[in-house]
Amino acid sequence: MSTDQNPERPIFTQLESRPLDPVFHSFYQAGPFTNCIECKERFVAGSSYLPYLIMKTYVHTEVIIEIAICWNCRSQMQSELSQQSEQSIRKFLAEKFRSEAHIESCAVCNRKRDKCRSYSIYAFCNGEEMFVGQYPFMACDQCEEVMQELLSDETRGWQDDFMDRHFSGPSLQIDPKLYPMLI
Ligand SMILES: [Zn+2]
Ligand SMILES: [Zn+2]
Repeated sequence: MSTDQNPERPIFTQLESRPLDPVFHSFYQAGPFTNCIECKERFVAGSSYLPYLIMKTYVHTEVIIEIAICWNCRSQMQSELSQQSEQSIRKFLAEKFRSEAHIESCAVCNRKRDKCRSYSIYAFCNGEEMFVGQYPFMACDQCEEVMQELLSDETRGWQDDFMDRHFSGPSLQIDPKLYPMLI
């Protein structure tokens, strides 16, 4: 699908951007993410760009989850979110989220990244540029756990399915408390 068909596309062009920080490169691909985890669409195909989100979860300095998902799939996921979860998360973010477009401390509680056992970082990208505004940001394990608890059982089930589909394997038993906020 071409990004030009995405009705949200014009807002992206109004956002400021800067070169993608290498911390948002894929650990497994040893370079920038190239394809959507869900639809496998390329983020850059010739002169056509598909905006995408990156989420990386660390325990200490080790990457345990990395996800790059295109804007279309992400919008689709959000539309499937239960109303209860959506309202709870929206309210929480409206009250607590205060990103200053950096990943040095938690966007919710301001705890420093190097003081966290586990945390996730998020960026909203276009090719090898990342948009600056609400993203990039970091969320610590404690705040992500609070957000996880706001999700309805239905949304949690959906989240488990997503993680199972993309991160299955006996060696990968990830504690759901450590999931990044997919929604
Ligand atoms: Zn996709
Ligand atoms: Zn926090």
